[in-house]
Formats: sequence, C-alpha cells, structure tokens
Amino acid sequence: MTATILDGAAVAAAMRERVTARVRQLVALGVVPRLEVILVGDHPASQVYVASKGKACEKAGIRSATHRLAAATRAAELAGLIAGLNADADVDGILLQMPLPPPLDGRTFLDLIDPARDVDGFHPTNVGLLHQGRPAFVPCTPAGVLELLRVASVPLEGCRAVVLGRSEIVGKPMAALLLARHATVTVCHSRTRDLAAVCREADVLVAAAGRPALVTADFVKPGAAVVDVGVNRVEDAATVARLYPGDEERRTQLAVKGYTLVGDVDFNSVREVAGALTPVPGGVGPLTIAGLLANTVAAACRRRGLETGA
Ligand code: NAP
Repeated sequence: MTATILDGAAVAAAMRERVTARVRQLVALGVVPRLEVILVGDHPASQVYVASKGKACEKAGIRSATHRLAAATRAAELAGLIAGLNADADVDGILLQMPLPPPLDGRTFLDLIDPARDVDGFHPTNVGLLHQGRPAFVPCTPAGVLELLRVASVPLEGCRAVVLGRSEIVGKPMAALLLARHATVTVCHSRTRDLAAVCREADVLVAAAGRPALVTADFVKPGAAVVDVGVNRVEDAATVARLYPGDEERRTQLAVKGYTLVGDVDFNSVREVAGALTPVPGGVGPLTIAGLLANTVAAACRRRGLETGA
C-alpha cells in the first residue's frame, strides 16, 4: 500500500481564504480584527514563527503588532504589558510566544491573558471548556489536524485513535478533540510501555513527540491515517541520507541551511503501510497559522456579538 499524501498547505490555504473573506465583511462593518503578539528574548525559531504570524495577519487583513522584550525582562514588566493589552478594548487577540526565557514561567503569564482574547487557547478557562466539550478557543495545531482529517473524510466516530505526546499545546487538546468526535482515544508518552504495539492499534495516529522519525512502519496498522505534527531540525548528514536515500532536495537543504526539517514519522517507511499520511514540511505546519487567524477573527466577532462566520 502507498499512502495518500494529505496536503495540509491546500487545506490551510482554503482556511485562510475563508478568514480573509470574513475579515472583508467585518471591515465593511467598521471592525478590523487586531492581534498583539509578545515575544520575549531571541529564541531563533520563535523569531521565525512570530514573523510568519505577522505576515499571515497582514495578508488576511488583520492588524497585528509584535512587542519585542529583552530576555532579561522582569516578571512585573511582562505582567504589566499583558494587563495593558487586556485593558485595551481595541485588542481582539493576545498571543504570548512560547517558550519564555528562564526564569520566566510560561504558565504564570498565559494565566494572565484575558480568556476572551486567548487566541492560542492555552488559558485554563479555554482548556476547561474544551475538555467539557464546549470549546471556545481551541489550540491552533490540534484544531488544524482535525480540519485536515475532516477534509480528507477520515472517519473518527468509533475509530481507535492514538495520540503520541501529552503536551498542553498539542497532545492533550488533540486527545480532547478526538474524544469529542467520538473516537476511542489512547494517549502515549515517554513512559508508555511497548509504544509500537499501542500505536499499531490506531486507525488514526497523531504523532507529536518531538523525536525525529520515531514512528516507523512497525508502529502503523496497515491503512491507518497518520498525522505527523513533529518538526525537528536534523543536522546530521548520515541520518538525512538514511531517512531520505537519494533525496537531492534534502541534501541541498542540509548543505545550504545546515539542517533539514524532519517529522516524528519516518515518512518513507510509513508511506508503504499507512492509508493516509501528512508530509513534513507541508502537512500540519501551515494549518497552525491558519488556525491562529481563524481564532483571531472569531475573537473579534464574539467580543462584538457577531457570528464568527469562518
Ligand atoms: P513536548 O512539549 O516536548 O511534548 C512531547 C511529548 O512527547 C511529551 O508528552 C513526551 O512525553 C512525549 N515523548 C517524547 N519522546 C517520546 C518517546 N521517545 N516516546 C514516547 N513519547 C515521547 O512537544 P510539543 O510541544 O507537543 O511538540 C511536539 C512536536 O510537535 C515537536 O516536534 C514540535 O516542534 C512540533 N510542533 C509542531 C507544530 C506545528 O505547527 N506543526 C506546532 C507545535 C508543535 P512526556 O510527557 O512523558 O515527557
């Protein structure tokens, strides 16, 4: 069997079109959605993510601004910034880019964000609502995975779903969303015994462990839908040659950038077993930003009692 490759970029483009159309309607009503992003320190991947979020907002007609704070920023200063944004009636979405540089504790500051503007869906109020089956703001990556599965017509009701990873941003909300769609859900983590055997029970397997190519063909039930959330920088030429034999594009990336992005799934072995599979890059990644745009527009609508429309 050779898996159908699920095109996350195309699904994300459709989501972005819907968001852009809704923004146009809102602008006609005099409402321009506004997202405020806070970036603390100079984490290289965070800088790239924040820049992409800003560009995506601009394209969709959403106003956005980034508050860049030094890594040595004091807790009181960051708390003050969040309080100021919470108090600004013109702000629709507030996003605190993770991770924060130590000793700042991410959880402490995420808890300060107004839940009505928590477009990442990380505030305990939004987490609780999601787990009660009445979602408000759903974390963007798992929401994107669900949209991808919906568009690909992967049946969820009654299926065995396995989520590999139990983080607050991917694994746990992913499990809650699949459960709400009536899947029978198992969540795996670093202490799970016989991981491959547990994963092999899955009709739908979502890998979010942050371990390059951890999921090999022996983790996958023939015909299963496999979603690869992982994004891992691999810099070792021998590993790249082993995972992507004869792949000139990967070799060139490694030579030019010094790394290539590898998912948590060993793409070339798993594609021979799975029924459907997402690539890295081009799978889940683009859906995360599309989800952020959708959440920002939803926030702008809900705060004004308007239909979210997207
Ligand atoms: P995380 O917070 O590090 O969580 C990783 C989870 O995987 C943990 O629950 C951990 O178990 C589990 N795990 C790690 N190694 C394992 C192993 N060998 N066997 C079984 N379980 C293992 O990571 P995250 O933030 O959820 O991100 C996961 C991956 O998704 C990363 O590659 C990240 O870059 C990527 N990501 C991509 C997007 C996107 O837009 N595409 C968005 C977010 C994240 P314990 O809990 O026991 O430690």
